[in-house]
Amino acid sequence: MNIINPATNAVITSVIADDQQTIDAKIATAKVGQKSWAATPLNSRILILQKFGTLLQTHINNSAEILSSEVGKPLQQSKNEINGAVARIEWLTANAAAAFAEEWVVESGSTREKIAYEPLGIVCNISAWNYPYLVGTNVFVPALLAGNAVLYKPSELATLTGLEIQKYLHQAGVPEAVFQCVIGAKEAGEILLNADLDGYFFTGSYKTGKYIYERVSKKMKPCGLELGGKDPLYVTDDLDDVTKVAANTADGAFYNNGQSCCSVERIYVHEKVYDAYVTAFVAEVKSYQIGTPMQENTYIGALTRKEHPAFLSAQVKDALSKGATLQCGGKSIAGDGNYFEPTVLVNVDHTMEVMMEESFGPIIGIMKVKDDAQALELMNDTHYGLTAAVFCRDELRALGLQQQLNAGTVYWNCCDRVSAALPWSGRNHSGFGSTLSKVGLRVFTQPKAYHLRS
Ligand code: NAD
Repeated sequence: MNIINPATNAVITSVIADDQQTIDAKIATAKVGQKSWAATPLNSRILILQKFGTLLQTHINNSAEILSSEVGKPLQQSKNEINGAVARIEWLTANAAAAFAEEWVVESGSTREKIAYEPLGIVCNISAWNYPYLVGTNVFVPALLAGNAVLYKPSELATLTGLEIQKYLHQAGVPEAVFQCVIGAKEAGEILLNADLDGYFFTGSYKTGKYIYERVSKKMKPCGLELGGKDPLYVTDDLDDVTKVAANTADGAFYNNGQSCCSVERIYVHEKVYDAYVTAFVAEVKSYQIGTPMQENTYIGALTRKEHPAFLSAQVKDALSKGATLQCGGKSIAGDGNYFEPTVLVNVDHTMEVMMEESFGPIIGIMKVKDDAQALELMNDTHYGLTAAVFCRDELRALGLQQQLNAGTVYWNCCDRVSAALPWSGRNHSGFGSTLSKVGLRVFTQPKAYHLRS
């Protein structure tokens, strides 16, 4: 399988993809390895995963270069991602003991009762390319901490990073049988779906997620889906500094070239601040440095998927044909790599794909609204439900809106962020189940109820 640099479309290297035979062998190895890993004291597992975090930190420069070379992310953003993963590992390892501890719920009288949290067994993690360190960490770190073996299929577009992760997990002390990469694209994923594993955890698009859920439901096995979003953001008329809000929210839309599951994908602005906001927003976007991922100061790098510039062009064409107006950008940038101009559209509405379907790129629609009620109605007018944000000075007004937003995560005066201490979960087409937080640690366990009568 060729590994391509999206900034040049040149082949970086090639790797051998797994097939039925090699995946069967990995599953057989994992079955044996998981038992002794589960019997390893939790404290030892915690120390091993902490060492993994230290190794990521030590090798950050090299790993960031590898990540940037295969996904096109600017080098500084690759480093930010690895630092973010290290922080998540710290939180997960610090909180694992409390999350997995046995709980005595009844201790008096002749009947005592306790809950124990057992590992699932072999966990299958089929993952995405946009934040391979972060979305991978959300799954395989708690899964390993809980005593599971993991078969980790990185996206075919982040294969080298998957192999880096495997290398440092093994160096940290995770047995080779307990964490194994499965290399390949859809075909390797299908082989994993045909197998009888103990839990399936997927990060990726709604389309693939739905398909995976249909396949896994027949197995009666746990399934977690972290899927796409069309995340709305509302700028109210109650702001201290509209320029600052415009800069923060533009970063929420354009960081990582808009290829974040929780990127701001559509913006609603109160009519009283609309003109000032749009002017400041467009000025900010025009200031972004577009360049090769390895170049210092690059903010907009290459898009990972070769076909993506054409997809974004089609969204622009659809919007313009229905009455939208371009404020900047709007087309691919000529050359060998997958580049697209940072694009701002106004006069948009919900008949347009750019306001309804995940763009996952450097493109945003901004729509004027007359009041909070209209903003709320438009924000909730979506099949997705990952995140939603409100910018406003008044906390009570923001809270009132947040409570009515149908999303797994709601933000006040911030956006496009994830906290290890909070559950990360979607609603509707954004998926279900949680990772991160104490909720996400227990996802990789199965509770056992003990009734003890003396
Ligand atoms: P994708 O659905 O194309 O692929 C994801 C993974 O599924 C890859 O590893 C791919 O090889 C595998 N796959 C594809 N077809 C398969 C099949 N038939 N059987 C088994 N496996 C198969 O998604 P992507 O392009 O890698 O990721 C981008 C999407 O992921 C976006 O929609 C983004 O919003 C979403 N995402 C969500 C989160 C979250 O936390 N909610 C985080 C990151 C990305």
